[in-house]
Amino acid sequence: MNVLLIGPPGAGKGTQGERLAQRLGLAHIAAGDLLREEVRAATAVGREAKAYIDRGDLVPDAVILDLVLPRVVAAAADSGYLLDGFPRSVPQAQEARSLANRAGASPDVVLYLDVPRDELVRRILARAAEQGRSDDNPATVRNRLAIFDEVTKPLIEYYRGRGLLRVIDADRDPDAVTGEILSALGVAQ
Ligand code: AMP
Repeated sequence: MNVLLIGPPGAGKGTQGERLAQRLGLAHIAAGDLLREEVRAATAVGREAKAYIDRGDLVPDAVILDLVLPRVVAAAADSGYLLDGFPRSVPQAQEARSLANRAGASPDVVLYLDVPRDELVRRILARAAEQGRSDDNPATVRNRLAIFDEVTKPLIEYYRGRGLLRVIDADRDPDAVTGEILSALGVAQ
């Protein structure tokens, strides 16, 4: 099974992605984690991506496509993927689509984690205190939420139109969210 997990910053993509991948035996591919690894390792990609990440902007499409797509294709040929944080725009989805089609790596289902704005901000600020992510400061968070609204949210209609979308009420504790996702996927708990 190939699953996309989309949602605003703070919706719980990382937490749910990890749990679901483990529960379903899928490769967990997290776009933000891959980028942060490149930044930590100070690769050419990491050096280019850092300024975008620190501002809360999306890194250029070519950068993220090169990083994510080979892993997606490899995972789809194996046990399937749980992809979180990609795509983050309709153009990214369109770019990925023809390659994924050719490689038999298209998503089977798209989960949208729905959380109200004030709860997102609360979660991100709590995470900032715990993890010290460089992009969890107030100015960058505002920009990330604005980019979500403008650039990422149109994916909801894009995937609804293709009949792949499942909206998950993610304004609940993590166990309840995992449970709702598993039942949406028709997986016995
Ligand atoms: P995340 O960990 O998913 O919140 O991602 C952290 C940051 O990585 C984002 O704010 C972007 O700067 C960058 N990023 C993650 N995924 C993408 C993507 N699909 N396209 C462009 N930039 C991304």
